[in-house]
Amino acid sequence: MKIGIIGAGFTGLAAAHALQKQNHDITIIEKDGNPGGLAIGYKEKNWKWSLEKHYHHWFTNDTFVLDLAKEINFEVLIKRPKTSVFIDGSNYQLDSPSALLTFSKLTLIERLRMGASLAFLKFNPFWKPLEKINASTFLPKIMGKHGYELLWQPQLVNKMGKFATVVSLVWFWTRIYKRTPQLAYPKGGFLSFAEALVSTIEKKGGKVLYNSEILKIVDDKKTNVIFKNNKGEEETYEFDKIIVTLPSYLFLKITPQLPDTYRNSLVKLQGLGATNMVLRLKKQLIKDGTYWLSICETPSPVMVVVEHTNLMDIANYNNEHLVYVGNYPSTDSEKYLASDEELLKMYDPLLSRINSKYKEYLIDYRVFRTPFAQPIIPTNYSKIIPKFKTPLPNVFLANIEQVYPWDRGTNYAVELGQKIADISTA
Ligand SMILES: Cc1cc2nc3c(=O)[nH]c(=O)nc-3n(C[C@H](O)[C@H](O)[C@H](O)COP(=O)(O)OP(=O)(O)OC[C@H]3O[C@@H](n4cnc5c(N)ncnc54)[C@H](O)[C@@H]3O)c2cc1C
Repeated sequence: MKIGIIGAGFTGLAAAHALQKQNHDITIIEKDGNPGGLAIGYKEKNWKWSLEKHYHHWFTNDTFVLDLAKEINFEVLIKRPKTSVFIDGSNYQLDSPSALLTFSKLTLIERLRMGASLAFLKFNPFWKPLEKINASTFLPKIMGKHGYELLWQPQLVNKMGKFATVVSLVWFWTRIYKRTPQLAYPKGGFLSFAEALVSTIEKKGGKVLYNSEILKIVDDKKTNVIFKNNKGEEETYEFDKIIVTLPSYLFLKITPQLPDTYRNSLVKLQGLGATNMVLRLKKQLIKDGTYWLSICETPSPVMVVVEHTNLMDIANYNNEHLVYVGNYPSTDSEKYLASDEELLKMYDPLLSRINSKYKEYLIDYRVFRTPFAQPIIPTNYSKIIPKFKTPLPNVFLANIEQVYPWDRGTNYAVELGQKIADISTA
């Protein structure tokens, strides 16, 4: 069959790779100039490796993506970085049971209670009963109010903003259940990995059209897509089947013919955007070597500070120290709309508390924004999760809002891509 895939993120690339194993003829149509979607990377002059516009790593149990890397002989590096929380101006390493046991901000009883609560989530594989429960009301009850308010409430509020009181316990559970202390990272960056996948797809005769934006899917007698090609001209391609990997709100934009009942079910789904400021520094920002620093203060201008070069070697980036300053604002908020300079001004007090000399070290900075980065998972999400089959008979939807119970991630994008390959051709 002739199958069109919209989007060269990891869902689209994995779907293409899987469909080629069934001998289908694949064309991927991608708006951007490169593959990788939300995990896309870029390169500054003199860097050997690319860097993701938004911080990315894998966990060592991300088997779908790690198996795919193995299959195409792509080298993956495994590291055990330091994860800490920032409270009252200090870093506290908090990434193992023993670190929790010696965490001086909680009493021994509170630490034991927190440990028992996290162990319950870590070793409980049954997510379904948890989806009825609201995270922000349940967690203080099991962890204790003080522990929750010190560690988790600030993280929930800094990440989810106005949705902090809406998310279900399943969303929180995935973060404890699925995370590993060791992390994995594709050698050369996620862009190199995506390019390696594209080259595997192209070697088997697949086509990837970049700088080509789908404007409309037309599904009357034939299934056509109308897109603006890399010369800015409108083109129409005809396919037997189409797999759309865009978030639901973008899917609706290219399918105005969908019935209202279906449209309304997708409009209900909510999400947050993301901004990441990448600082290029002459020296290390987080001196204790922490890779992931969650800011446990509210209100905070920043959710997380991620020093990428405390995970990967600075030699790959012309000896520059690279730091993400990350947030998940909604697209109508000040943090999303602020200029780069305004954002740095907003972040400056916090960054100065982390390292008072950071401005002396600053070579340059860039800000990356993306409008849909984090689906909101309210209670009973399984009742509103979009279906793979759409009202258009030959058009299938496979996107970031369908990897439930898991939270978004390239591993789940790969799993989803493989799943939709089977569903769309069954
Ligand atoms: C801040 C942040 C941090 C993250 N951290 C991690 C992490 O550490 N580890 C991890 O594994 N995952 C992480 N993720 C999640 C991960 O990036 C996503 O889950 C995954 O990349 C989703 O892939 P996808 O292919 O489903 O969607 P996308 O990557 O969104 O792909 C959709 C593609 O469609 C294209 N497109 C959009 N509109 C059109 C159009 N009209 N025509 C043609 N093409 C179009 C887009 O350009 C894009 O390439 C993070 C995401 C963010 C934002």
